[in-house]
Amino acid sequence: MGTTKATKVLIIGSGPAGYTAAVYSARAMLNPILVQGLQPGGQLTITTEVENWPGDTHVMGPDLMVRMEEHARAMGAEIISDYVTSLDLSKRPFTARADSGTTYVADAVILATGAQAKWLGLPSEEKFKGFGVSACATCDGFFYRGKEVVVIGGGNTAVEEALFLTNFASKVTVVHRRDSFRAEKIMQDRLFKNPKISVIWDSEVTEVLGTEAPLGVTAVKVRNVKTGAESEVSCAGFFVAIGHAPASELVKDQLPLHNGGYVVVEPGTTRTAIPGVFAAGDLTDHVYRQAVTSAGMGCMAALDAEKFLAGH
Ligand code: FAD
Ligand code: NAP
Repeated sequence: MGTTKATKVLIIGSGPAGYTAAVYSARAMLNPILVQGLQPGGQLTITTEVENWPGDTHVMGPDLMVRMEEHARAMGAEIISDYVTSLDLSKRPFTARADSGTTYVADAVILATGAQAKWLGLPSEEKFKGFGVSACATCDGFFYRGKEVVVIGGGNTAVEEALFLTNFASKVTVVHRRDSFRAEKIMQDRLFKNPKISVIWDSEVTEVLGTEAPLGVTAVKVRNVKTGAESEVSCAGFFVAIGHAPASELVKDQLPLHNGGYVVVEPGTTRTAIPGVFAAGDLTDHVYRQAVTSAGMGCMAALDAEKFLAGH
């Protein structure tokens, strides 16, 4: 038999949104419980340097997230290593069941489950995942010392991943479906100046090619979207950096979603369609998707929850 834990505020997710919500709701004496999920610290734990967190010219993503966790604990939040497998928002108190067997019962819930890497959806991509296909250069870049790699994507993540991979790889080729990047200009500048990186514009990857025994990537098939011309680019590693999708699986049948899965909130607030349920960070934001905006929304969610609880 699993245990039951009751709380005024249950925070699901341990990225900048979740930890900030924990700091604020702990300081409001709401004794929050925060469930961390499979990625304690969230997306910033899979990057290296963060240069746009106010107050830190340079900070390593994982270090920043350890500091946020320590801050939330110091304020009195209970932080639990667990994963919520189902959530019942049909009646109050809300209930969340978790992997450990624990049931969390809460008067208010702050959803801060963030986002996860998107994949191209190719059968060959699936086949070589973990065997040359990756969505995390900081996790897997080391395996490609002295080898050639390909990165697909044109946003901040793709450019950052490509730059990071130059620390290991002999050559990095970025494939992008248009003829300009959407990444910040400062990042693009660094990329264009790096002699190890070349870019294939207006192109998509149509197949990952490799060996069977041992399973491993040897090349990707690239198609020019304007001319239809096909070519092969040899590589030992293929990094997919085409954006992130909101992690709204827990609530997809209970709350309205928009733009492919983002939880809808009342403009200017973190209130969802269900009173007492709040959403913050990349789970609800399809526009800004930054650490600092997620933290800001975490603060808003805690204040919104406090106001809700005071009225009930
Ligand atoms: P996330 O950080 O996505 O965290 C989500 C949390 O929810 C995780 O802890 C996860 O374990 C938890 N979770 C999910 N499902 C469950 C569940 N069922 N039960 C319990 N917990 C669950 N932004 C910047 O501002 N500057 C940068 O330099 C920067 N660099 C980046 C580099 C990379 C490689 C990536 C991928 C993103 C980067 N970003 C950067 C974006 C930034 O990381 C995100 O905007 C931010 O982390 C979103 O915070 P969040 O709290 O909404 O969610
Ligand atoms: P993103 O900004 O959404 O960019 C995704 C990129 O992948 C786009 O260039 C897009 O092409 C391309 N793409 C999407 N689907 C594709 C497909 N099926 N096939 C081929 N290409 C595809 O995602 P992101 O780069 O992961 O960034 C997510 C958020 O995190 C952003 O808000 C970003 O600013 C933030 N972030 C910030 C930093 C930083 O501040 N240093 C670092 C990383 C991430 P199009 O351009 O043609 O749409």
